[in-house]
Amino acid sequence: MRITVIGGGPGGLYFALLTKKQRPDWSIDIYEQNQAEDTFGFGVVFSDETLHEFLSRDRPSFDRIRHEFAYWDDVAIHKDGREMRCAGNGFAGISRMKLLAILQQRCREEGIGLHFGVSVPPEEIATRFADSDVIVASDGVNSRIREHFRATFEPDVAIKSNRFCWMGSTRPMDEFNYFFRQTEHGIICAHTYQYEAGRSTWIFEMDDACWRGHGFDGMDEAASKAVLEALYAEELQGHPLLLNRSNWRQFPRIFCNRWSHDNIVLLGDAKASAHYSIGSGTKLAMECAISLSDAVVAHGPSSVPTAFAAYEDERRTPCQITQHNADVSLAWFEHMNRSWDMEPEQFAMVVMCRAKAITYDNLIVRDPGFVEAVDTAFYERVYRETGEDYRKSRPTPMFTRFRLREMTIENRVAMSPMAQYSADADGNPTDWHFVHYTSHALGGAGLIFTEMTCPSADARITPAARACGPTRRKRSGSGSSTSFTPIRHRRWCCSSVMPGARGRPNSAGRRWTCRWRRRRRTGRLSRPRRCPITRASARCPSRWTGRRWTGSPRISSRRRSGPTGPASTCWSCTAPTAICWPPSCRR
Ligand SMILES: Cc1cc2nc3c(=O)[nH]c(=O)nc-3n(C[C@H](O)[C@H](O)[C@H](O)COP(=O)(O)OP(=O)(O)OC[C@H]3O[C@@H](n4cnc5c(N)ncnc54)[C@H](O)[C@@H]3O)c2cc1C
Repeated sequence: MRITVIGGGPGGLYFALLTKKQRPDWSIDIYEQNQAEDTFGFGVVFSDETLHEFLSRDRPSFDRIRHEFAYWDDVAIHKDGREMRCAGNGFAGISRMKLLAILQQRCREEGIGLHFGVSVPPEEIATRFADSDVIVASDGVNSRIREHFRATFEPDVAIKSNRFCWMGSTRPMDEFNYFFRQTEHGIICAHTYQYEAGRSTWIFEMDDACWRGHGFDGMDEAASKAVLEALYAEELQGHPLLLNRSNWRQFPRIFCNRWSHDNIVLLGDAKASAHYSIGSGTKLAMECAISLSDAVVAHGPSSVPTAFAAYEDERRTPCQITQHNADVSLAWFEHMNRSWDMEPEQFAMVVMCRAKAITYDNLIVRDPGFVEAVDTAFYERVYRETGEDYRKSRPTPMFTRFRLREMTIENRVAMSPMAQYSADADGNPTDWHFVHYTSHALGGAGLIFTEMTCPSADARITPAARACGPTRRKRSGSGSSTSFTPIRHRRWCCSSVMPGARGRPNSAGRRWTCRWRRRRRTGRLSRPRRCPITRASARCPSRWTGRRWTGSPRISSRRRSGPTGPASTCWSCTAPTAICWPPSCRR
């Protein structure tokens, strides 16, 4: 077989290396637009887990990579002049340049053709590589091949809002450091770690307002470096920042619905990108390279489409899982300010758990001392603020009481609202809701948010959504709500409601029913009813009278939907829960 690889990053190189090792008789060529020693960025990190993948696949490259690694175990989080350190994280860093050099060398040793300084325009692929059985498009996050065939690959590309630049420094360090800094324009985070002796990676990240506030939008690399060196003078400890194509960028979050087109297959960042804050992009590219290589070796000679299908089958879910963790982590960095008023201990815990892949229990295994320090600070704060003393009993913080205005919640487990679309014709809850809520109440959650509930039956987003207002009186005698109350009370579970849309309904039917689909197909769908809140009379239903929300401030016609009014109502006595619970319900 003849294989062409376009893009000589870690993904393309590793695929070529593993495939050639298994099938030395195949002809494999890599085309890279840059010269061999040109690359962007500084160091990349790998977790322990990834190292074992290398070990099992190509021992010589593993040995050389491992020889170059800088290892560390601790993650240190710096905020307000305090350092919180969490051990047991097992990471290794390597210069991206060295990683590529090792893989290039291994490719040469195996007899792969390496062609540097050759940029392949996507429109020339068909003619230029007409004799190739497989063409691997590993041309990175800005893949021109993916864009050229976007009708087939169906890429979903979202440019994320934060700004970042990738720099280096000569400052040595023994751990992964997050340096958070509050500046006059907002919060900046520097993600930093050593990747070889005397060299560390420094990725600076901030939101758009902070970036503009500092004037980075009009600065070149050198000017940005000078400003960042001044801002981070203390952390840099007299060392300079280093540049290597360190322009300001926004992270493109990419996922392709299809990964192959004829004999072209996407690999690495070209098909799916993962935010650098979980350090998994290279890992993802190389793990996909392993899978693609196995699939092409196993099925390629008989059927290239079968090989591509096997690759996609194996890697789609793992890619999505990694991408999901990366997205959650990325979202945290986009909203760093939300956690900023936390004390350093709690802040450090949130940073460690931000991707939701590492949990409180994982951290106890990694570093019990870290968790103990965070818990102690938490109990002290709760004691200071509420007088509740957990300092001796030390329950898991999740199982301590929490106050919301006058409402005391027995624990900090809250169930978020889940629309059930099972209300009756008037918007009243049904037996379905009864089973749904009581089963969750029995589970022990301290707070249950009932589903989105619209202010009147006419203002529901679908005819199956819940509504309050006058119809609640009809409901009050129904088995559902009254039966729910004792269970809720015995379990000390509080309930809240999420107020819903107040404008024109989205749908005049239940969209998931066969009837609705048939009507849509035949064009017999009735139009949504007119919005009950007209432009002239538009008022925000924001005050709770005990039976319904009443209008008060005027709203513009553009703001007809969205959350309104008080945050919670009680299922049993219909007053806002925050006021009635526990006193009036106990009555
Ligand atoms: C700031 C930052 C920090 C990161 N940190 C980490 C980390 O710590 N750990 C980690 O695992 N990952 C990290 N990553 C992600 C990592 O760099 C990428 O996920 C990884 O490089 C993807 O490998 P790839 O082979 O798919 O693409 P790339 O490494 O991007 O390689 C693509 C190659 O294709 C070449 N090319 C493009 N178009 C053409 C063409 N038409 N013809 C010929 N050649 C072409 C390019 O020159 C490039 O060399 C980070 C990324 C960023 C932005």
